[in-house]
Amino acid sequence: MDLPAYFPKCLKCNEEGELIPLSDYGQEGASVLFKAWVCTNPNCGFSLRVDKGEVTYGRKIEPKQ
Ligand SMILES: [Zn+2]
Repeated sequence: MDLPAYFPKCLKCNEEGELIPLSDYGQEGASVLFKAWVCTNPNCGFSLRVDKGEVTYGRKIEPKQ
């Protein structure tokens, strides 16, 4: 899999961070590429994710306990 050479800048924090793609695994173990994008700026926390075709903005992605 080739990642792009650069990532899009996050517009929410005035391009301080970059949006990086995260992958996940589906219920049958198939990998879901680029399911979520998160800002690298910890003070920003902007995220964009896709769940079953629905796009969600701005929800902070918490690490699993
Ligand atoms: Zn940001």
